[in-house]
Amino acid sequence: MASGKPAPRRLTIFGATGSIGQNTLDVIRHLGGRETFDIGALTGNGNVALLAAQACEVGARMAVTASDRHYGELKDALAGTGIAVAAGKSGLAEAAEIEADWVMAAIVGTAGLAPTLAAARRGADIALANKECLVSAGDLFVKAVKAGGGRLLPVDSEHNAIFQVLEENQRHALERVILTASGGPFRTFSREEMAGVTVETARAHPNWSMGLKISIDSASMFNKALEMIEARHLFDLTPEQIEVIVHPQSVIHSMVGYKDGSVLAQLGAPDMRTAIGYALTFPHRPSLPIERLDFANLSRLDFEAPDEERFPALRLARIAMARGGVQGAVLNAAKEMALQAFIDGRVGFLTMARGTGEVMDRLGHLAPAATMDDVFAADEEARRLAAGLLN
Ligand code: NAD
Ligand code: MG
Repeated sequence: MASGKPAPRRLTIFGATGSIGQNTLDVIRHLGGRETFDIGALTGNGNVALLAAQACEVGARMAVTASDRHYGELKDALAGTGIAVAAGKSGLAEAAEIEADWVMAAIVGTAGLAPTLAAARRGADIALANKECLVSAGDLFVKAVKAGGGRLLPVDSEHNAIFQVLEENQRHALERVILTASGGPFRTFSREEMAGVTVETARAHPNWSMGLKISIDSASMFNKALEMIEARHLFDLTPEQIEVIVHPQSVIHSMVGYKDGSVLAQLGAPDMRTAIGYALTFPHRPSLPIERLDFANLSRLDFEAPDEERFPALRLARIAMARGGVQGAVLNAAKEMALQAFIDGRVGFLTMARGTGEVMDRLGHLAPAATMDDVFAADEEARRLAAGLLN
């Protein structure tokens, strides 16, 4: 006889060991853990001990390391638990096929594209943190989610904010979206000052605690560049409808402007668990232990126009959007190569935008993507060119 209790919701988390992944597990804990959720797969990369501990805690059916050479270590760590173990690209593909109603896409970079796409095609609801999926594959990714029948639920805080305040029945009245940007640690730096910054200073975000790569992308404002392209595809906007405003306190997470002059904003403490919880329980709002805004003590909210001379990444996003087609994939792939070169100490901070712009100019002629293979080909070509330029 049925107990009357709803069946646990089935979830999978790609990138469980990262910053978004760990925050997702924290939200799951607060919402009842394995009593409420049935965890299909958890994936990670080199952090095997954490992945194994997470899989045991939530009773996952499968744990996957993206790194083939960590397979043995993960297998040993989970021996006798009954949790299936897999590795590499094929392991990620298996994780994508495990029955799950909701998939958190929180792998960093284009490495997340193939498994997220597979889960979308299968019809899962996709909670999207991995913005690179939309930047690279754009409309093809949106179409794959629609064809699968699942929903695309934005987790990026700006897009989640827009998702929260964009009334579907008011779409016709939407005029613009305004993405807020903290300005990062170098908001007030001159170009000369930025030329010599280190990875350690670049990763120190003033408001948000995030993974290494997105933190450095925030310092260069490449993160906002990716988010402009992400917003274009998520909300079906023209490039002209997308504005960016620097708001150093990160209290307003983004805004929607309507044709009657009204602007609706979503505010909150800078804590990704709000966006994750919203995406996990949509259309409900769960109770979460997030710091509450204390307006009496906020004192002020500041705004500044973004400076595209000091932060040319924003201009590159506009160029990529104007060119369309696979240019998002080219921008993102070249940027990932340049970012890795900066992290490895091979190039300086300013070279990231310069190198990315150069690759984009050389590949500006590429035809629009008809299929995902075109996207992967553009990505590869951009990486090959960037590798030559950045060494
Ligand atoms: P992170 O570096 O903390 O974690 C990345 C995760 O991806 C880890 O689980 C890691 O094991 C896995 N991973 C790394 N390389 C991989 C590979 N080659 N193949 C498969 N898996 C791999 O990153 P993060 O900060 O959690 O960001 C994840 C995604 O979410 C990024 O796309 C980022 O832009 C986006 N995002 C993050 C935040 C945030 O607050 N951290 C906010 C908005 C959007
Ligand atoms: Mg963001």
